[in-house]
Amino acid sequence: MRTPFVCGNWKMYKTAAEARKFAKAFLAEYEASDVRVGIFAPFTQLPTLVRAFRGTGVVIGAQNVFYEEEGAYTGEVSARMLDELGVKACLVGHSERRGIFHETDEDVRKKLVTLFRHGIAPILCVGESLEQREAGKANEIVSGQIAADLEGIPDEDVRKLTVAYEPIWAIGTGKTASAADANEMCGVIREKIAALYGEETADCVTIQYGGSVKPANVTEIMNQYEIDGVLVGGASLKPDSFLSLVNF
Ligand code: PGA
Repeated sequence: MRTPFVCGNWKMYKTAAEARKFAKAFLAEYEASDVRVGIFAPFTQLPTLVRAFRGTGVVIGAQNVFYEEEGAYTGEVSARMLDELGVKACLVGHSERRGIFHETDEDVRKKLVTLFRHGIAPILCVGESLEQREAGKANEIVSGQIAADLEGIPDEDVRKLTVAYEPIWAIGTGKTASAADANEMCGVIREKIAALYGEETADCVTIQYGGSVKPANVTEIMNQYEIDGVLVGGASLKPDSFLSLVNF
C-alpha cells in the first residue's frame, strides 16, 4: 500500500514572514497521521519553513532547481544549495514552468538526475492541455512526457518517484477533472511506468492528481484507486483549508 501524500504548491505567493505565520497557525491544529504532507514554496521562504516544520514530519520542498552543480548560471539555484538548507523534495516540470519558462522534457530529465544524485525527492509534473484533450491525445501526450522525462533514470530511482498528473486546463481554473477521468489518467501513467520498468517498480510510484483540488472535492479524489495523493495550489495557501485537505 502506498502512503497518501498531500502537497501544497504555493507558487509565487507569500513572503517569509507570511510563511512563518502560516506555519504557526497550521501547526497549532496539525496532528501527524499516516498521511504524508509536503509544502512546496518559493526559494526565499525555504529556510524559514525548514526551521518552522523541523521535527513535525512535514516535508519542505522547492518548486524548481537547475541541473548543473554550479557555474555561471545567473539566477539559478542548484540541488546542493537546496540540500544544504535541509530541503527534502522538489517539483519538476510543473506546467507553468514548461509553458511560461519553456522548460523541455530534456531539462526536466536532467533536473530529475540532479535531484536523485543529491537525495532530494522529486515530484514530476505531467499533464495535457485542453486542446490536446479535446483532440483525444491526452494519453499519448502524458505517456510521451513520462517516457521522455524518465529516459535513462535507473529503476532504483524511479521507485522513489512521485508523479503529479495535472491537466493544464484544470489548474487554477476551478475546473476539476472528474474523479473518474483523473483516476483513469493516473492509471495510464502507472501503466506507462510498468511498460518501461515493470509492474513491481510501477507499484512503488506515488501518483498524485492536481488541478483545482479543494476541501469540497478532495475526499472523492483521494478515494480513487489509482490516486495516492494531491498537489494543490490555491486551496493550500490558507492554513485551515490546507488542514482540511491533509485531514481528507
Ligand atoms: P490549483 O493548482 O490547485 O490552484 O489548480 C495546482 C497546481 O498547479 O499544482
